[in-house]
Amino acid sequence: MDGLSGLVLPAHPQPKDDEIFSSWLCRIAQANGLKLHTLEVQVWGRGKEIWTRDIDRSVDDPTLTRIASLCGTSFERAHATTLRGLEGLIFEKIVMGNSPWILPAAVYHRTRRRPFMQFCPACLAGDKIPYYRRSWRLALATFCDTHSVMLHDCCPRCQAPVMFYRQELGDRWSSDFGTLSLCTTCRFDLRETDTEKVVIFDRDALLTLRMQMRYLDLGWTFTDKQIFQYSQLYFDVLRNLIQKMMSPWSKRKASAVLSPGLN
Ligand SMILES: [Zn+2]
Ligand SMILES: [Zn+2]
Repeated sequence: MDGLSGLVLPAHPQPKDDEIFSSWLCRIAQANGLKLHTLEVQVWGRGKEIWTRDIDRSVDDPTLTRIASLCGTSFERAHATTLRGLEGLIFEKIVMGNSPWILPAAVYHRTRRRPFMQFCPACLAGDKIPYYRRSWRLALATFCDTHSVMLHDCCPRCQAPVMFYRQELGDRWSSDFGTLSLCTTCRFDLRETDTEKVVIFDRDALLTLRMQMRYLDLGWTFTDKQIFQYSQLYFDVLRNLIQKMMSPWSKRKASAVLSPGLN
């Protein structure tokens, strides 16, 4: 089964900027004319159903090492494609089940029951080979800072979640993925999704949102009152704040302040 052991594949695409692991895996298979299933068997062995899990969250270090060596990529770069690579940046440790800030995949067999992967149509359209960004799995990301448009979270034609890894499942013999930008439910090309410009109500709020995404690159952050040596501490505080604001007590209080006559 170790047909690819010790080899660097003929084509070894490197992870693109901010590319998420599952997208990179699909592109590796695609670039080598392999069925995704064939590559999976070589890496994981037979009988492993990797798409019945959230592979971007659960891929382990030995597997990452193997894929990195197939592509002549460093382990660190491969690790940075995974959601675990966000440990110490946005949360301390990734946990099974729901992790803070990550859109849950809600896996059901090989399908996803609700949107978990967002996308910017303009980013996909601008890619030479369309790929999916790790930051699009984050609940923090609501718009594309490059194109100033809102992110989408499902196919605009059929409303199915984005499941680009299913491209070839309809034809088990085919290694032809087409482009990863095709909706695997109705074949709509997500690059053609209408874009919606970000409406800016408050420039300071926009700046804060932009900075929050930058904190993930820096690994540390600051507010006007405090420096956070570890950016996950900032996100912990932010999450607590949001939870408090969303509590029934806070909502009642806010509504009493905003509409005193109605209470
Ligand atoms: Zn974009
Ligand atoms: Zn669709």
